[in-house]
Amino acid sequence: MNKIQMVDLQSQYKNIKSEIDTAVIDVIESSQYINGPAVQEFSSNLAKYMSVKHVIPCANGTDALQVALMALELNPGDEIITTDFTFAATVEVIALLNLKPILIDVDLETFNIDCDKLVNAIGPKTKAIVPVHLFGQPADMEKIMQISKEHNLYVIEDNAQAIGAKYQFKSGIKKKVGTIGDIGTTSFFPSKNLGCFGDGGALFTNNDELAIKIRGIVNHGMYKRYHHDVVGVNSRLDSVQAAILNAKLPYLNSYNKSRQDSARKYSEALKNCNQIITPILSKGCAEICGSCDCHVFHQYTIRIISKKRDQLADYLLTQKIPFGIYYPIPLHKQKAYKSESFKDEEFVNTNTLSDQVISLPMHSELSDDQIDFITNKIIKFLA
Ligand SMILES: *Cc1c(COP(=O)(O)O)cnc(C)c1O
Repeated sequence: MNKIQMVDLQSQYKNIKSEIDTAVIDVIESSQYINGPAVQEFSSNLAKYMSVKHVIPCANGTDALQVALMALELNPGDEIITTDFTFAATVEVIALLNLKPILIDVDLETFNIDCDKLVNAIGPKTKAIVPVHLFGQPADMEKIMQISKEHNLYVIEDNAQAIGAKYQFKSGIKKKVGTIGDIGTTSFFPSKNLGCFGDGGALFTNNDELAIKIRGIVNHGMYKRYHHDVVGVNSRLDSVQAAILNAKLPYLNSYNKSRQDSARKYSEALKNCNQIITPILSKGCAEICGSCDCHVFHQYTIRIISKKRDQLADYLLTQKIPFGIYYPIPLHKQKAYKSESFKDEEFVNTNTLSDQVISLPMHSELSDDQIDFITNKIIKFLA
């Protein structure tokens, strides 16, 4: 059995080494390191993959979120509703832009924003909702889009963890998450489902006006060379990263399928352990079928409901089984984002989850014997 890793980037690279190496050398030889043809090519291939009109590449997923908010031309103090249970980048950019983050508790089963609580938080200053498709599972976009229409709010999807996942509407229509709201954002951080060999990110939109604004903002607010119409940023995907992503994009569906297969095997092996709750799929998907793309398992996250999560974590360390705790502290408790308006008792579910969750190794190269080894150790320890 190979050494178990949380994410196995080495094996993934080795499997397509010649394609990646060729793509990188081509960029080096072309010397078009910034905004070279590789960036154009990747953007247009990704737009096809996502079935979205515009893909605007940028330097990382955090920038993508920041630029998305900048494109909405909001005023200081405007309120942005997002989830209490996400990576800090989501809320960080809201605060950075002098907007006010309104954090919302999550659904205990999907780990995604609770839409009933979301509705109650809407006020006269609310301008946008930022749902996060956490761990690869789409948020309840049917309800979120309905709410946004009723209250005239923008929707920015943080799709850093769910690229390739599809959401099925009641009408039967399926769309890739990240293309449903006004703007979608993603990250190509190496460990994401589609990762480059450094930092990278992108924005998605079907709105021509927003696309123009975004292209200017990522380029110093320039719409015409050396004419700076708005305050922008410098946020670019470099050509080497674009070439690597272009080589990897054709494999994204198979990577996601491998993740789903591993998730199904984990859940099957752990199903009889009554101290564990295995991941639950959004409504509309009864099982991890490996073909419906409803959850792309950026993380495989279980809940230990017997208060033994930390003991299990210590034990896994002794067994050299890597794991992650995403996320150990809800955002409403973080020093940087604490606020009088966030009452701890309004965050029952994020408080519960941060005590119970543990994420097991998950990547496209996980083998059956590794999953058996991990699940046997966990079952034995909890017995
Ligand atoms: C990774 C991630 C980001 C930030 O992406 P970077 O490329 O690291 O800046 C934002 N939101 C979520 C939910 C993420 O997982």
